[in-house]
Amino acid sequence: MIDRRFSTGGGVSDLDLIDLRDDEPVALAADETPWRVLIVDDDEQVHQVTRFALQGSRVLGRPLHFDSAYSADEARALLAQSRYSLILLDVVMETEDAGLKLVGEIRERFEDPAVRIVLRTGQPGYAPEIEVIQNYDINDYRAKSELTSQRLLTSLTAALRSYQQICTIESNRAGLQRVLDASSGLMTVRAVRGFAERVVLQICNILAVPADGLLCGDGDGGLQILAAIGRDAAYAGRPLDALGDSDRVARIATVRRTERSEFAASGACLFLRSPRLGALVVDVPTNKRTSELDRRLLDIYAINVAVGLDNAHLFEELELYAFHDALTGLWNRTSLERELARRSALGSPFALVLADIDNFQAVNDGLGHEIGDRTLKAAAALLADAFGPAVFLARPAADNFALIVDDVARLPTLLAALAQRLARNVLVDGHAVPMTMTLGVARFPQHGNAAATLFRNAGIALKQAKRRDRGGYREFDNRFEVELKERLNTIRELRHVVERGELRLHYQGKYDLGSGQRVGVEALLRWQRGPGELVGPDRFIDAAEESGLIVPIGAWVVAEACRQQREWAARCLDVSMAVNVSPRQLKDADFTAMVDRAIADSGIAPDRLEIEITESLLLGEGDRASEIITTLRGRGVRIAIDDFGIGHSSLSRLQQLPIDRLKIDRSFVTDLDVRAENRSIVDLVIKLGHALGLKVLAEGVERAEQAEVLLTLGCDEVQGYLFDRPRPPSDVA
Ligand code: C2E
Ligand code: MG
Ligand code: MG
Repeated sequence: MIDRRFSTGGGVSDLDLIDLRDDEPVALAADETPWRVLIVDDDEQVHQVTRFALQGSRVLGRPLHFDSAYSADEARALLAQSRYSLILLDVVMETEDAGLKLVGEIRERFEDPAVRIVLRTGQPGYAPEIEVIQNYDINDYRAKSELTSQRLLTSLTAALRSYQQICTIESNRAGLQRVLDASSGLMTVRAVRGFAERVVLQICNILAVPADGLLCGDGDGGLQILAAIGRDAAYAGRPLDALGDSDRVARIATVRRTERSEFAASGACLFLRSPRLGALVVDVPTNKRTSELDRRLLDIYAINVAVGLDNAHLFEELELYAFHDALTGLWNRTSLERELARRSALGSPFALVLADIDNFQAVNDGLGHEIGDRTLKAAAALLADAFGPAVFLARPAADNFALIVDDVARLPTLLAALAQRLARNVLVDGHAVPMTMTLGVARFPQHGNAAATLFRNAGIALKQAKRRDRGGYREFDNRFEVELKERLNTIRELRHVVERGELRLHYQGKYDLGSGQRVGVEALLRWQRGPGELVGPDRFIDAAEESGLIVPIGAWVVAEACRQQREWAARCLDVSMAVNVSPRQLKDADFTAMVDRAIADSGIAPDRLEIEITESLLLGEGDRASEIITTLRGRGVRIAIDDFGIGHSSLSRLQQLPIDRLKIDRSFVTDLDVRAENRSIVDLVIKLGHALGLKVLAEGVERAEQAEVLLTLGCDEVQGYLFDRPRPPSDVA
């Protein structure tokens, strides 16, 4: 190899051997930057001859610029200041080997492996040691006698070409290193948006242009800007057209359509494809053409990026699943707990609001899970709307939502806004559905300074509200805890009420409004908790339902009511006997058999027994309820819908089921004679009941005026204090 370099004397010029057109980098083609050449020689004439010989010459399309040093020291000073492409170096200067020593310094001290060195000597035959040439990477060795223009140019061209190749390799290597660094850095960015911004930034870095640019992908109405940085930053999240720069928009659109990157002088527009995110275009404004090298680097980068983008997307999805509720897109319980812990560590006051959809179970079971899901989504949207987008909104459990409100002072306003929204119907699947929510509130730090305590206390407040103020809201109060304990006590005691014989039934008459005749009685449960302490059902039925104890208690009620009916029937008071049955009881697989046993054991006529179920149960238990109702009705047992008007019910359901009686809830009867609105509701229910062929009974009639109105409206039957109060059996007979 060295031999070949030295064999320059032949007839064929080196120029002929070098194909100057081969593999010309695009950026360099138009490059006017001069090659910097340093002439080091103690002979002024050599400087002059060299400059003169090469005057106006261009090498590889670029002009030449010369600096001169007349000693090794001067050369050192210049090398410390600037980088050169080529050094024409005299071997013998102040000492025999001053030039050779300088070569070693250039490579080692100045750490310049790229600069080409052509050694020159005045004494023909004096050649440096082969070792020196090998060790110090010297390009060429020439005698000063060869300073003809042609020979110099040949030598320079070969050296500069070599320099250029070394630089290309070096920048390739550095570029690849940049790509590698950039790509591995990207792997730690986990959100797609952040990732995309980094991609744009790194492309700017690779191209060595200012950090401006954008990344877009296919959206609903055409290309959408997914991420943008620098001067483009404001356009992130907007449609591409928003850019307003029609040339640029057109360029990006073309690249998207052709799926081929385009490098114009005004910008580099890169096409990427990610298996998950689809087609993407990165556009970075530039003021120069992108070099071939940079294009290749960008290609490699693009492949890395596509993989990284997918990772980010996967990670985002994973995070979404781990911390979000898939149905509503809200935060899940894990996130809520994290957020509560984070906020309580921060120490500023906030409020945790738990919201629960009333009768959601009924909607879900009765109308199906699909409607249930839509209801949940509608509820999520409603809460987001009422509390504003900034509020932390989570769905920690099925029909349970949680909100963290920072602006505690605004809480009453926000709750009022929610109430107002709830007053309107919610659109579910195009249908307006009435929805109410009950809320429980706990404040930090007053009601707990640990996340768990706060959550628990908001839950207690919610339960309390559910019990006392359904559709309303309660703030946690330490008394609730006391009540909770009492409730647990109640449940403990309720376990033994049946075997201890502490249950009693009181009876209230039902009357035919026209004739005033008693047509039946309703059995109402009482608990003889202690001597002289008779507890009403409103104080223990909930606890019994919650604990499931309502099943054995309810069975006792049916059996006792049947026994009582039979006893009275035997003593010439053969009235219909109504018993109340709660939804929880109908869920019990043994329910129908239990009723059958009560009828059989007492020996009453089945049509003397009437089961009162609540309206919401029609929805709630859905098919199971229909089945039970149908079976029992088939045996002759009568069915009444209790508390009609306050819950949700489906008219078609009502029509399909073999029901005998509608009992209008007391709340409509209370001021029936003074409130026109209630009067028309009652009127409507009566007409509806009659249209369905049912008897209609009004509950809670206390005043003669109410009875009069009911009579005018055509109500069939009444029940209430006006006629009689619930009384122990001894008083009834
Ligand atoms: P309900 O089935 O709607 O019973 C009517 C309630 O209204 C009874 O309250 C009764 O005393 C009361 N009432 C009747 N007339 C009037 C009136 O003119 N004015 C006023 N202010 N109230 C009147 P009670 O006995 O406290 O029962 C409350 C609820 O407890 C019942 O409402 C029923 O839902 C439930 N319940 C009662 N016994 C049982 C039972 O054995 N099993 C189940 N699961 N629930 C029962
Ligand atoms: Mg009842
Ligand atoms: Mg009722």
